Formats: sequence, structure tokens, C-alpha cells
Amino acid sequence: MKRIVIVGGGAGGIGVATRLGRRLGRKKKAEVILVDMAENHVWKPLLHELATGTLDTGIDAMSFRGHARANGYRFQQGRLTGIDREQRRIELAPIMDGDQELLPARTIAYDYLVVAIGSVAKDFGIPGVQEHCHFLDTTQQALDIKDTLRKRFLRYAREERLSEQVKVIIIGAGATGAEMAAEMMHAADQLKGYGFNMDPAMLSITLIDAAERILPQVPREAIANSVARQLENMGIQVRMGQRVVRAEADGIVLAGGEKLPSDLTLWAAGIQAPEFLADIGGLETNADHQLVVKPNAQTTRDERIFAIGDCCACPQADGSIAPPRGQVARQMGHMVVNNLIDLLNDREPRREYVYRDLGSLVNLSRFHTVGNLFSFLGGGVMVEGRLARFTYHSLYRRHLLEVYGLLRGTLMMTVRSLSHFLRPALKLH
Ligand SMILES: Cc1cc2nc3c(=O)[nH]c(=O)nc-3n(C[C@H](O)[C@H](O)[C@H](O)COP(=O)(O)OP(=O)(O)OC[C@H]3O[C@@H](n4cnc5c(N)ncnc54)[C@H](O)[C@@H]3O)c2cc1C
Repeated sequence: MKRIVIVGGGAGGIGVATRLGRRLGRKKKAEVILVDMAENHVWKPLLHELATGTLDTGIDAMSFRGHARANGYRFQQGRLTGIDREQRRIELAPIMDGDQELLPARTIAYDYLVVAIGSVAKDFGIPGVQEHCHFLDTTQQALDIKDTLRKRFLRYAREERLSEQVKVIIIGAGATGAEMAAEMMHAADQLKGYGFNMDPAMLSITLIDAAERILPQVPREAIANSVARQLENMGIQVRMGQRVVRAEADGIVLAGGEKLPSDLTLWAAGIQAPEFLADIGGLETNADHQLVVKPNAQTTRDERIFAIGDCCACPQADGSIAPPRGQVARQMGHMVVNNLIDLLNDREPRREYVYRDLGSLVNLSRFHTVGNLFSFLGGGVMVEGRLARFTYHSLYRRHLLEVYGLLRGTLMMTVRSLSHFLRPALKLH
């Protein structure tokens, strides 16, 4: 029986494991193994809600082990460190608990491999960023942000330093930075309900970017202007055209020498694939360490290895590459499943990925949602308010239906809705 190994169970990889498990694993037509360095799957576009406590991992995190058992694939926890293409096996780092080795370094053999390990923040080599900034790439990093904010708020309330503000700087005014800023404002407002003696004015949030306008990846200026207005109405300072040259423990320094103090600095200024991919198994990578793939997602130097989502560079007819987005990872995943089934049946994996921009929506917490739908129809349609909010959340609903199936997915959505009524608005611990 052939073995398909998928590394990375995020927005793209979990769909591949689920579909292959149901279609091949359950029927013993192939062995399907998912490897992830985390134990649980959390939908990455919700990480900013996890960081502010508006999302509860108790409800929204899904155990890979339980999901694997129910869907016909096996799960192995481990961090990919190498690929031995000659022997056709992947290498995993040992799993440590502090100084204690829980599981030794291991290898797993494959017949076909799908790499779907996502992206990490890109620091552009700016000094101090790795040491002093927070990032929003993993569940643990989101929880670290929540912990830092909670401690800062707690100290603030106890010390009754009402004349001083808690200062947050977010670098990167793309969708992630803008959504995170709004979510923090919302969380600060909710804290009153927990007995914290504070109002949103005690929180100072500054959003900084070297670009001249916010949301540089959103082509319609009207959307960017609408988001900028909303952020300013919330009291968030937006400083565009400002280049950060250094991050320090207590703030950042801008080109020109101005220093901005900060209690928490979040780096959301760009992404790249994990750096180790550039040295892994001699596969072709680009300047952002993404694995270069053919339009059918096969890596250019090894037809047994596929890559999908943020960690790959998939060429498009106009010379661009498919952008690093949840919808791309998901759609590429669907395509790879069909290509793999073709390969197992001795057919050519012919399907090619064509990116159709269904739109970009920016959700400013409970305050405002705005964006563009059906962008592939030349310019698209600008939407705001309830329709935009409904569509924004439908990406996650579709994801739940895909990974849990129709019945359990619908139940999960119901549980989430009920939990908004039943539990406190913030999860503080
Ligand atoms: C705050 C935020 C909001 C976003 N909002 C949107 C949005 O509204 N719409 C949209 O389209 N996109 C959005 N995105 C982007 C979207 O989340 C990503 O494009 C998408 O998650 C990429 O999917 P992926 O499968 O490539 O990687 P991921 O979803 O990041 O999954 C990668 C998986 O690989 C695992 N992994 C990583 N390294 C290793 C390793 N070495 N070994 C083993 N496992 C590993 C990780 O644990 C993870 O499970 C947002 C991103 C963020 C951070």
C-alpha cells in the first residue's frame, strides 16, 4: 500500500489529510499520515482573536489525534527538519519537555509527500525584531501576546496608574495588523466587565507601516480609506510612511531617530516561508524560501513532493505567484488531493492551480467589516456591514464543514454561537 505523508495540518494541509483519509485511508487504498509540530489545529486567520482572548481554544482548537481517528488517517506529532529524497523519508526533530526528551528524532518514509507548513514573519533583517517583538504565526505566539497583555492590564489596574497608558505598537498595516489593532480595542472595552478599572482610552495603539497607505495588498483605495477612517474613529493612531530601523525592549526607533515607547510590540510587517526550506533536500526555493512548484503543485525537482499554501510559490499565467492566503491554501489542497489520486491510479497529475481572487475582507472586530468581493470580475464589488461580516465568517464556516463534515460541522457552529451567549466575552487565562 502506498503511503502519503502530509506535513502541516493548517488551512491547507488539514483539508488534504481529511479528504485523503476519507477517500483512501478508510478504504485501505493508501496509508495517509499527517505530521504537525502542534497537537491541535487552530484556524490561523483567527489567531488575532486568540491573542486578545475573544477566541477560546477550548472550543475552537481541534485535536489532530481525535480528528485523525475519525477520518481514516494517522497523526504523528513532530517538527520537520529535513527531507532525504533518495531514501524517500522525512526527518523530524525530537520532542522535548524542557530538558527531557519525550520522543527521539525520527524519520518517516513516504511514497508521496505534501509540504504545507505555512509561513513565518519576515523581519527584513531589522535589528532587535526577533528579540523584542511578538509575532502572530502560531497558537503559542498568540497565547504569549494574550499573557503579556493580561499581565500588563493587571499591573496597570493594581497600580492605579490612571494617568499613564498601556502602549501597544503594531508594525505592518496589512489586514493582520489592522484586524489585530481593532480586536485589542474591543478587548480593552470588554475588560470593564471583569472589574478592571479602566476605559479604552487607557490603551494607546499605534499602527505603523513604511508604505504610504494601509492595506497595500487591497487594490481598491476606497476600502483602505474606509478602514483607516474606522481605525482612527476607534482612537488608533495610524502612522504611514514610517520605517522602523530598530526594535528595543521598551519601544521602537524610526528612521530619523524618533523613539516610540511600547509595552508590547507586534511585528506583522510581512511573511516568508520558514528559512530551513532553503536547505531542505535540494529542492528549488525562491528568495522568500518558498518551495517553487509547477502549476499542479509538484515541486520542480521532485515529482513525488508537492507543496501547497503559504510555503510554496505556485506560478500563475500572468507571471505572478498565488498569494499567501487561506483560500489559496484550501483550494490548492483540494487540487492536490485529486492529483494524488490520479498518480495512485497511474494517471498524470494534470490539474493546475489557477488563482481566482474571490475577494478580500477586513474585519475590524465588532466595529466594522469592509472589503471587495469577486475581485476576478474586474474590480469586484465593494461590500460593508452585515453582508461583509457574514461573508468574512463564511470562510471559517466552510472550513468547519470541510474538516468536521456536515453534521458535526453544523453542530460546531451552533456550539460556537451558543458559547457567545453563555460564556464571558473574553477568555483571560
Ligand atoms: C491574524 C491573521 C489573519 C488572517 N486572515 C486571513 C483572512 O481573512 N483570509 C485569508 O484568506 N487569509 C488570512 N490569513 C492568512 C492565512 O491564515 C494563511 O494564508 C493560511 O493559514 C495559510 O495556510 P497554510 O496551510 O499554508 O499554513 P498554516 O495555516 O499556517 O498551517 C501551517 C501548519 O504547519 C505546521 N508547521 C509549521 N512548521 C512546521 C514544521 N517544521 N513541522 C511540522 N509542522 C509544521 C503548523 O503547526 C500549522 O499547523 C490570516 C493570517 C493571520 C496570521
